[in-house]
Amino acid sequence: MLNSYSGYRLLFRLGVMVLLLVLVGWVVDQITLTVLLGLAGLLFWHYRQLARLNYWLWKDKKLTPPQGRGSWESIFNGIYRLQGKNRRRVGQLAALLGRFRQGAEALPDAAVVLDSEHNILWCNKLAQLILGFVWPQDNGQRIDNLIRHPDFSAYLRKNKYFEPLEIPSPVSERRLLEIRLMPYGDRQLLLIARDITRIHQLESMRKDFVANVSHELKTPLTVLQGYLEIMQSMEDEASPNQKPLHLMQQQTSRMQSMVEQLLALSRIEAGANVDLSNTIDMNMMFSQLKIEANALAAEQYTLEFFCESKLNIHGDELQLRSACSNLISNAIRYTSPGGKITIKWQSVASGAKFSVSDTGVGIAPQHINRLTERFYRVDNARSSKTGGSGLGLAIVKHALSHHHSELTVISELGKGSTFSFIIPTHLLERKI
Ligand code: ADP
Repeated sequence: MLNSYSGYRLLFRLGVMVLLLVLVGWVVDQITLTVLLGLAGLLFWHYRQLARLNYWLWKDKKLTPPQGRGSWESIFNGIYRLQGKNRRRVGQLAALLGRFRQGAEALPDAAVVLDSEHNILWCNKLAQLILGFVWPQDNGQRIDNLIRHPDFSAYLRKNKYFEPLEIPSPVSERRLLEIRLMPYGDRQLLLIARDITRIHQLESMRKDFVANVSHELKTPLTVLQGYLEIMQSMEDEASPNQKPLHLMQQQTSRMQSMVEQLLALSRIEAGANVDLSNTIDMNMMFSQLKIEANALAAEQYTLEFFCESKLNIHGDELQLRSACSNLISNAIRYTSPGGKITIKWQSVASGAKFSVSDTGVGIAPQHINRLTERFYRVDNARSSKTGGSGLGLAIVKHALSHHHSELTVISELGKGSTFSFIIPTHLLERKI
């Protein structure tokens, strides 16, 4: 029977006890002595109960408390109830933890929980498989002692985990892993590692395929173009064959430029490790871009140029020139004759900025984020007319990413667009 706590009952019992003692003391004519002796006995009895409780809490292996007497009965029962509640709560927590662990085990990726010092607190089976951890021996080990790769140590130290990291698996050099770190809770980190070997292989197969096909298409297209030119020159001006021959020649040259662009994109994609120690003379490059732009504009546009002198950068000249000339040729192609195009190279707070502004057709906001996708074109009919392939801005994006930069597009439909990028300060020859 569980007795709940009642302060009044305790006081009442004490009162009755003292009264009884006083009564007995009065009978034997020794009130003070009787009360003192009685209270001393009461104290001793309470001390005994305390000792039993202490023994049960610390030494006794029994779950049920000793049979309490008097006011101690409710105390023993209260502690027993609390213990039961705690046991149930621990059980629930253990079940929850078990479910969480089962969920984490079912993840298709390796998961590792790290503390703020980057020591391993827990990992799932896949982590043991693809990261080579041995559990529980590696519990508490620093993760950079087990994944020994300079890029990983630098990534860990950087404390900025927005981008995933790709490194070879510590188990096998041939397997490639994508590692993501996510901070959570009390400065803990969750590390997720995915095996991307297959995706990587498919990606390089795709790149090789595109590069090979484009390369193989080059020769037959040159032959076709050559023969079409000869055939056209052999026909009379008034011949009915002139028009189809002209159209065939137009389409083959379009295919040729597409193949050229595909090859350029493959070359830029393949050359991810750009040698950033080369200095690009931007004044010289700008003068060449100016000549090209004037030739393309064929005096039908107003062209404005501004190039800050001695603002040179480190990078790959071919890639950067390709990016700039793609932006300039787009500005001319998507602006009606009579429009104005402004090309600038100037220093800004975060580096050096290249921008091309036009007064052309502009781009609706919903297309802007997709412009740099391969073969993405806003208006297929217009792009075909302008000879576009949808690869130009993909080339720009790749070339810029090799120079730690990104393309920014500001555009208003019907009014014009500004395409720009900033080469960061650390790639400038003259630090600003
Ligand atoms: P394309 O070879 O078709 O021009 P790009 O990759 O160079 O391919 O450009 C993708 C699309 O972006 C184009 O089809 C065009 O619709 C749009 N675009 C690019 N530059 C401009 C610009 N300066 N003004 C308006 N639209 C543009």
